[in-house]
Amino acid sequence: MAAETLEFKAELKQLLHLITHSLYSDKEIFLRELISNASDAVNKVRFDALANADKLEGNTDWKIKITPDKTAKTLTISDNGIGMTRQEVIDHLGTVAQSGTRAFLEAAKASQQGAGPGLIGQFGVGFYSAYMVADTVTVVTRGPGDPAHGTKWVSDGQGSFTIEQVEKPARGTDVILHLKDDAAEFLDPWKLRSLVRKFSDFIEHPVVMDQETEKDGEKTTTEETLNSRKAVWLRNKSEVKPEEYAEFYKQISHDADAPAATIHYAAEGKTEFKVLCFVPTKKPFSFDWEEPKAGLRLYVQRVLIMDRCEEVLPFYLRFVKGVVDSADLPLNVSREILQQNPILDTIQKSVVKNVLDTLAGMKNVEYEKYLEFYKGLGTVLKEGLTRDWSNREKIADLLLFESANTEPGKYTTLAEYVEKMPEGQTEIYYLIGEEVEPLRRSPYLEAFTAKGQDVLLLSDPIDEFALPQLMEYKGKKLHAADRGAAPSAGEIPAEVKEAFAPLLSTLKTTLPEAADVRLTKRLTASAACLVADEGAASAHMERLLERFGRGEGKGKRVLELNPDHAAVIAAREVHSKDSADPRVATYARLFYEQAVIAEGSKVADPSALATRINELISRDAGR
Ligand code: ADP
Repeated sequence: MAAETLEFKAELKQLLHLITHSLYSDKEIFLRELISNASDAVNKVRFDALANADKLEGNTDWKIKITPDKTAKTLTISDNGIGMTRQEVIDHLGTVAQSGTRAFLEAAKASQQGAGPGLIGQFGVGFYSAYMVADTVTVVTRGPGDPAHGTKWVSDGQGSFTIEQVEKPARGTDVILHLKDDAAEFLDPWKLRSLVRKFSDFIEHPVVMDQETEKDGEKTTTEETLNSRKAVWLRNKSEVKPEEYAEFYKQISHDADAPAATIHYAAEGKTEFKVLCFVPTKKPFSFDWEEPKAGLRLYVQRVLIMDRCEEVLPFYLRFVKGVVDSADLPLNVSREILQQNPILDTIQKSVVKNVLDTLAGMKNVEYEKYLEFYKGLGTVLKEGLTRDWSNREKIADLLLFESANTEPGKYTTLAEYVEKMPEGQTEIYYLIGEEVEPLRRSPYLEAFTAKGQDVLLLSDPIDEFALPQLMEYKGKKLHAADRGAAPSAGEIPAEVKEAFAPLLSTLKTTLPEAADVRLTKRLTASAACLVADEGAASAHMERLLERFGRGEGKGKRVLELNPDHAAVIAAREVHSKDSADPRVATYARLFYEQAVIAEGSKVADPSALATRINELISRDAGR
């Protein structure tokens, strides 16, 4: 059958263009990427074969072989893994852009250093890194089945690739790199040996290379294993060097930075397992666009069972990367069995405890480091408040907040907040908005500030959902500052109430959009604000739901007026002289609209507001 020529998908063309036209200082990482693909492929066939042993075709001497050929100037990476069908080759190596490709291109554009190798690793464009060193790549592959149905893929990375059916005697994949002239160093066995040790030492399958020795004029070829294959997590903590942890972390996380914290321990007793996992220094590049996945790699006695086992790590800790190796689970566990297995519950409890304790330690001892982690990933951690009931207090202790009393960019904790509460304060107050800075000037803070009470200022979309779930901290209830009665304010004297009653009753009819109009002690400097009743959606929550396309129309809020404010007193005086004075209706609208602006929402009719203000200016100026 003749070879067919197919076009790369548009994004892949751009990606290949970037890779072939950029200069990389670290182009050697291509080898790690290809070996890691090969190792994945071996794991896949091994895992599939647990259920279906005849797939193995007797080809179970698992290995990845690298073969430099100085004459042909090629470097071949071969594996006896799962291989690919023709359609898989077309999909994986040409038409289906990995979800990361577009994001990679964007990040490359944004990054001042261009598409550096750190980016390539993070965005899962591993295979294409081959074009950093090769001008043509040939892939010959086949999955379990008929040797006549192999597939050969060839491309110079310039926009198209050819594909044809070929004979492929053994199952698996050969990736043949036709090296560029300036990449001849990758034909040198010494260089290859050192690269495998550097990048792929922990790969569990042997990475081998033929070695020729000459003895008494007779040449013999032996296969030399280049990697130590020692699973770091099985070793004793005291024997593992920091660089070894860092290198292992890099391998499993594709994170260019070293981890912020390493958690390594062996659990002994009724269930035995080993855990090695890491907390990243900051939010990884790919975190927001990548399909969120949680879990640790699950091994059973060194055999990889599952890439991300969700049962051992809750979703809100999905930034943690690592492995768990169980001595007790059966090798051929299925997903269904896993879900019901109590061993996994035990492992999860232990992992969660260790991760949360580690974060607490970091916060107490290495605050700056913690801050960097928290700025990117604190919002993810907060999800735990809604999902992990049993660890709520522990998670709450890890949270950092800006507050009315903190300087911009500084944070307080709930514990510090409670400790500093003045006498008589019984609740923890918070205020949520889109941004912290405008909240600092919010009228809702006035009464609290006047009493020396602090208010936490929050601006994470998740806060609106997560904070109410916490409900209380150390016996102190959490209370939204813009909700319900102002708990810290005193009573309004009866005679004041009486004096304002007629005005309030007129305002209620003039302002049907307000649920009620009442006096407040909440304000000191401002004249008016809107308050959600206990249990009703706050203004910020409404805006948030609207953004998610879940807006169910505006809820009514209570308009509160400050009886000590000159403008409010003036309105009362005008009204008491003539309750039908048309100015009262204008004042009513202006009070309401300034309150809408103060809560951070938009007024329904800005031009009508402008007209009203302009009328006032003209009148005030006597025109
Ligand atoms: P990633 O490894 O991040 O998925 P790659 O671009 O490196 O991205 O590879 C794309 C896909 O091609 C892989 O997910 C895999 O399905 C397939 N693939 C690559 N190398 C091999 C191999 N040696 N054997 C089998 N499949 C492979």
